[in-house]
Amino acid sequence: MKILVTVKRVLDYNVKVRVNPDGSGVDLANVKMSMNPFDEIAVEEAVRLKEAGIGSEVVVVSCGVAKCQETLRTALAIGADRAILVETDVELQPLAVAKLLKALVVKEDPQLVFCGKQAIDDDANQTGQMLAALMGWPQATFASKVVVDDNVATVTREIDGGLETLELPLPAVITTDLRLNEPRYVTLPNIMKAKKKPLQTLTPESLDVDVTPRLDTLTVVEPARRAAGVRVADVKQLIDRLKNEAKVI
Ligand code: AMP
Repeated sequence: MKILVTVKRVLDYNVKVRVNPDGSGVDLANVKMSMNPFDEIAVEEAVRLKEAGIGSEVVVVSCGVAKCQETLRTALAIGADRAILVETDVELQPLAVAKLLKALVVKEDPQLVFCGKQAIDDDANQTGQMLAALMGWPQATFASKVVVDDNVATVTREIDGGLETLELPLPAVITTDLRLNEPRYVTLPNIMKAKKKPLQTLTPESLDVDVTPRLDTLTVVEPARRAAGVRVADVKQLIDRLKNEAKVI
């Protein structure tokens, strides 16, 4: 069973986000970029399925600038077999990525696609769902447990107040949540091995996909600064302030 995993290069989750002075977007110059954390979980899950003898090949895909190669090499170091970069300098929105992924899915014919549940930069939470819709495939989002057996995936999802279990005939799209697994530590020998694994570069044009953005970002602003706190003398004063100043009780 071939498994395709999507990996996005995003601002590292430890980096303090700074907005460009003109409000046009987030400042990405000279900041650390990493693999989207939910995609690391997706790669780990696919590699575990391969190690369990269920998956035969793990192919990782990234769409974006040439530097996404670094993200793909990390995925190869976790244990993926080969990588595909769809290279473009155009700012990609979820629908454009889903169309590129559809073209690759048609070409590669995987039985299972893992995406992260959302990218921590745009927080769109759309790409996996759009890909499933474009393919007409079943989907299970926010997976916290995945069992694959005989062309059927049984997926547990975390929902408000409980767990939901779905059964999907393959091929299908699954998006990964935080508690699905804990990605392994990438070792130096595996980083070295990853350098020799195949990485193919394609373009949106070669896949016949128009990636022109359809949405305009009007403005991006930083959240309002938190006002300084005050120390109150006793509980009576606290309640008085909460009631009459903050008006929250
Ligand atoms: P989003 O819909 O933007 O929140 O992204 C959800 C998931 O789709 C991510 O966790 C990735 O697995 C995948 N994805 C989104 N954008 C890209 C991209 N440019 N390249 C590869 N995968 C992507």
